[in-house]
Amino acid sequence: MGIYPPSLEELISQFSRLPGIGQKSATRMALFILKSSLDMAESLARSLIEVKEKIKFCSICFNLTDNDVCPICRDENRQNGTICVVEGPGDQLALEESGVFKGRYHVLHGVLSPLDGIGPEDLKIGGLITRLDQEGVREVILATNPTTEGEVTASFLLKLISDKNKDLKITRIALGVPVGGDLKYMDRMTLEHALKSRMPMSL
Ligand SMILES: [Zn+2]
Repeated sequence: MGIYPPSLEELISQFSRLPGIGQKSATRMALFILKSSLDMAESLARSLIEVKEKIKFCSICFNLTDNDVCPICRDENRQNGTICVVEGPGDQLALEESGVFKGRYHVLHGVLSPLDGIGPEDLKIGGLITRLDQEGVREVILATNPTTEGEVTASFLLKLISDKNKDLKITRIALGVPVGGDLKYMDRMTLEHALKSRMPMSL
């Protein structure tokens, strides 16, 4: 039996089910809620329910959204003809926050990982292939992460897409030395990518 009243013990046990939250943090969070106003507890509870009820996948790009289709797919001011393919909603958000890309996105919701039993059918690849024709796409930017799985996924997509669409331009994001970086602290994979994705210099 726990040292706290059962309802508090229950809240601690619910919090401790969250990723990265151990017993100690769960207890601290539960005690914080206990001290907080009823308003705060109610709005937290409401948010938890709302996120489950409202958030869905955009039926075009599979980004997370409250309204289908998502604001980016709906936005008529964005460039058509270029799709940037990313692993997850977090990657899409990071690119979007940088403000440099004005085209459309496609979220795969994962990467190929045979060891974990994740194959092409587990990712949102079918929808991407359909979009290429439907949207008159001219360029696909493969922006999966520079991990082993991300590279395997990019290679798989390159082959799949170029087999079906000979005229389509397929690019991979340039990976390499970050701005302000120092070569001697880079790992081998980063340096290899930096060299491979070298660009002509001009005055
Ligand atoms: Zn969308």
